[in-house]
Parts: sequence; structure tokens; C-alpha cells
Amino acid sequence: MYVALAPLSNTLDALTFFSAARAAWAVVVWILVLAAWGALRAGTRRQLIVRALAGPLTLLVMGVATVFLPRPVPRLTTTDSGATIIDYHAHTQASHDGRPGWTLAKLAAWHERQGFEASYVTDHNIVYDGSLPLPPTSINLLPGVEWSVYGQHVVAIGPVEALPRDSFGGSTQRMVRIFAAIERQGAISIASLPEYWRNHRDDLGAFVIAGVDGFEIVNCAPKALSFPAAGRSEVLALAAGHDLLVVGASDNHGWGQVTCVWNLSHPGAQGFHTNRVFARSLAMVQGDWLPWTAPVTQPWFMFRSLSWSERASWLTWVVVILLYRAMPRRQGQGAGIGILARSLGRRSRPEPVADETPP
Ligand SMILES: [Zn+2]
Repeated sequence: MYVALAPLSNTLDALTFFSAARAAWAVVVWILVLAAWGALRAGTRRQLIVRALAGPLTLLVMGVATVFLPRPVPRLTTTDSGATIIDYHAHTQASHDGRPGWTLAKLAAWHERQGFEASYVTDHNIVYDGSLPLPPTSINLLPGVEWSVYGQHVVAIGPVEALPRDSFGGSTQRMVRIFAAIERQGAISIASLPEYWRNHRDDLGAFVIAGVDGFEIVNCAPKALSFPAAGRSEVLALAAGHDLLVVGASDNHGWGQVTCVWNLSHPGAQGFHTNRVFARSLAMVQGDWLPWTAPVTQPWFMFRSLSWSERASWLTWVVVILLYRAMPRRQGQGAGIGILARSLGRRSRPEPVADETPP
């Protein structure tokens, strides 16, 4: 269904995988262009106003559909029976910025649709220890928390417990002690870099010395999608050199239908080679293009990332619409499926033509 509806699926995905700055540029420019296009065509004053509003309204409807419309989504599957498809970082309504009504069961169903077999639940500064009595969920939800400390978000997963968060504020030196504190709980610490990577760009060596277990290198949140490839390469080199974990995070907060990243992980293992990150190419390029180019580059990146089956679907839709529009119709006859039916009927039962002379 995702491929059959490729023009809709791909467009809504392209609207989902947008860094915040690029989204702002694209929306403003597209609204202006669509409004101008509608207003500059021939017609009565009333028609011009309606046309000038129709384009921007369509864009608004697409935006709402991107966030709320249930639709077919891609799933990651694997033939590696020893591996688990997992998400390391996701939120529920317990987070201050989580979608109201976004329960653990809904979070689990969201992950299950996209092929995940497990996800850590990492609400902001609220420990999920997995002990709450729950309705049965479709995938495994694992204990975790996302600590906000001194310009840095640290995801802790495993047997997490409450921490005196204030004692890690005020300086980087105090902040990095949280990695040891998480380790004493028997949990694993992952520095979530993509969103706030500038804050501690030069401190990552200190993170390693202080005992961080890994780094997040892809995160689907709109601000985090600005993380540039150069920053990701630096982090990858550091992690590889110290055999640390690297992960991708949906950072789902209940908005939007698709993830930009999956992990293929061998449970219980640690270190650089134990987890593989699979990310959507459209999300990966967000940090490397100037925001003002987004009105043009976002559609270009979308088309460039299509699979052959998606291209076939696009072409089929284009041909169907062109054929429909090219169907001959009588003067004054409006467009509609009826045209198709009438035209087919005429072909099977030709009407006699009065002025035709026999050969
Ligand atoms: Zn988060």
C-alpha cells in the first residue's frame, strides 16, 4: 500500500523528514509561490481570491495530514535471527512535550507498524522502570530515561533509577559525572548529540574519559535533523576509536507517522560493532544543505531517494491522470468520471453519421 500510494506516501515522508530551519523556509516560499500562482491567472476577482487561497490551504492540509493521517509506512525487516530491530529513544505523554494521550500502548503500536521489536522508553527526567502494570503491548518496552543536564541530553537505558539531577549542573566537569552515576546503577549512558551538538562539541573527549557508553548519531526530531554529516563523522571516528556504541533514535513524541531511523542490535552486547544504524537518506541530508534551498532541494532529494517500485508507482499515477485529462469531452461538459464512461460507451456503439457517403 505504501508503494501503491507512493506519491502521497513519499510527499508526506518528505514533509516529515525536515529540519526545523529548512521546514520554515520551504513553507514560507511555497505559500508565497502558490498564492501568487493562483492570483496571477485570468478570472474574476472572486475566482482570483479563491485560487490564491487554495494553494496555501492545500499545503496546510498536507501539513496536518503529515502529523495526524494514519497511513501505510515502511517496515524494516531482517533475516538475521540473532538481531533485534530496536529504538533507543522515544517518549510518551509523561514527557512535558509528549503528545497528550500518547500512551505506552500507542507508542508500542507505532513502533510495531515499522518493524521494531523493542523500544526503550526515555521520557524527559522521568524514569520508566517497566514495573507499571500495563495492558499487553505489541512489542517489548524497555526501561530508560532521558536526563537533561547542563546543555546536554543523556539517554540512560537498562536498570535506571532516579538521580539528583541538580548535582550535574553548572559546568561540563560536573555534568560528565552523570555517566559514572548511570554506570553505578548498572545502566548504559548514551549522549544524545544531534540536537544540542554545538553545546559540547569540544567536550566529547571528556565524555569518553568520564565513561560515556555511546553516542546518538541520528535523531529524527526536527532540530536534531540539522546535525551535519561532518559532525556525525567526527563522532563515528571517536566512537570507533574507543569501541563505543553508536545508535539512531526516532525520538518519537507522538507526532508524525514514520521513523527516520532503525537499529539492528544484538541484545546484551556493547561496543562499536554491536549495533547497526539504518537511516532514511532524506533525513541524513538535512544538515548539509542551506535552509533557504529547501523549497527546491527537498522535492529533489525526495525524488532522488525513490526506489524503482516507487518510481513505477509515480509514473503510473502520472499516466492515469494525463489520460483522464486528455479524454475528449463535448463543449461545456465538465470533467468527471462520467466522461470516461460516456466515451467508452460511444466507442462500443458508434452513432450513425449523417453526412457520410459510402465508398
Ligand atoms: Zn528525546
